[in-house]
Amino acid sequence: MTLIHPGELLPLVPVSTDTPAEQAATLRGIGPVSGSVHSWDLSTGVDGPGTRFVVFVAGCPLACLYCHNPDTMRMRNGTRTTVDTVVAEVNKYVPFIRAAGGGFTISGGEPLLQPDFTGEILRIVHEELGLHTALDTSGFLGARASDALLADVDLVLLDIKSWDRELYLRLTGRQLEPTLAFAHRLAALRKEVWVRFVLVPGLTDAPENVEGVAAFAGSLGNVSRVDVLPFHKLGAAKWEELGKEFTLADTPVPTSAQVDRARSAFTAHGLNAV
Ligand code: SF4
Repeated sequence: MTLIHPGELLPLVPVSTDTPAEQAATLRGIGPVSGSVHSWDLSTGVDGPGTRFVVFVAGCPLACLYCHNPDTMRMRNGTRTTVDTVVAEVNKYVPFIRAAGGGFTISGGEPLLQPDFTGEILRIVHEELGLHTALDTSGFLGARASDALLADVDLVLLDIKSWDRELYLRLTGRQLEPTLAFAHRLAALRKEVWVRFVLVPGLTDAPENVEGVAAFAGSLGNVSRVDVLPFHKLGAAKWEELGKEFTLADTPVPTSAQVDRARSAFTAHGLNAV
């Protein structure tokens, strides 16, 4: 599918830096009816059931070493886009998405970095267009998701990047606890969750690390699927383009036997791992 960049339609967001203070200032300027968007695309596979219209927002509080879209990390790399523009674009594909049994996914970057924008898009797409909706998040900003926002989410795609706290910090630059707290909240709400776990040889593939994520996911009761995603290097060129070092350049991709082993750890906890 062709990646469509809304920058072809609208001027770039005039943001000079992405410190937390700048992000807050940017969001105040943008308001709830528009936000910073990187791109949108149609996809089938890991973004939720069926064919999805996926919006990738710009800006993320994490800095994952294996991020394959490092150009979505900065809010300033996005394009100021109104909710109306996003909804109008989704609307074009509604008959096709309905026929394909798919839906709408908001991804990133981190959608909960712009909770008002994300919430308003989800509300319209869910309540007015009547589409199945998915929220793709690391959960780090789960506390920013109001109950009203979550009411318009049918499925949460929750990335649990590591069970080992120290490794999580090394991988992402952030703490794991907010993600776990969000996972517990989703379980209490009985919200359907797909857990996503990126298998990186030499980093996340230690048996005790995989087992920790698997046992936790299995204990929640609302996880209907686990995607074990093999680490890949398709984003390496983007790191270079951004003038940043891709520190996992020499890390091997996992073998299919390694991926199967990790999936088995999840299925041993009664989970549907793919
Ligand atoms: S959470 Fe996703 S978008 Fe953010 S840095 Fe990690 S991989 Fe990239």
